[in-house]
Amino acid sequence: MTNERGKKALERLRKIKPFVQASLSITKKRCGNPRCRCAQEGPLHEVALLTWKQENRTRTLYVPIELRQEVVRWVQEGKLLKRLMVEVSQAQREFLTSKKKSRRSNKG
Ligand SMILES: [Zn+2]
Repeated sequence: MTNERGKKALERLRKIKPFVQASLSITKKRCGNPRCRCAQEGPLHEVALLTWKQENRTRTLYVPIELRQEVVRWVQEGKLLKRLMVEVSQAQREFLTSKKKSRRSNKG
């Protein structure tokens, strides 16, 4: 039971692909090898990190370069999922509100 708005959001929700609720950040780091060029003049190494909050702590996870584009898609899908959850919740509240109104008008 839902309305048009809810149907649309649920349709998209059914097509959801792998997702992660986190963000991807690119930072520059020294690798720690004293003989590497980054120890002296650079450039520093680009490192991709997945970050998210868990139990009020910020957690991070290293993302290998070959998976970077894939993980970008997971993050985008995670944001879409969040929007769709908000959308369906809103649609269901509207649905309830419209029922209340129609019942009132049926009674006259
Ligand atoms: Zn280095």
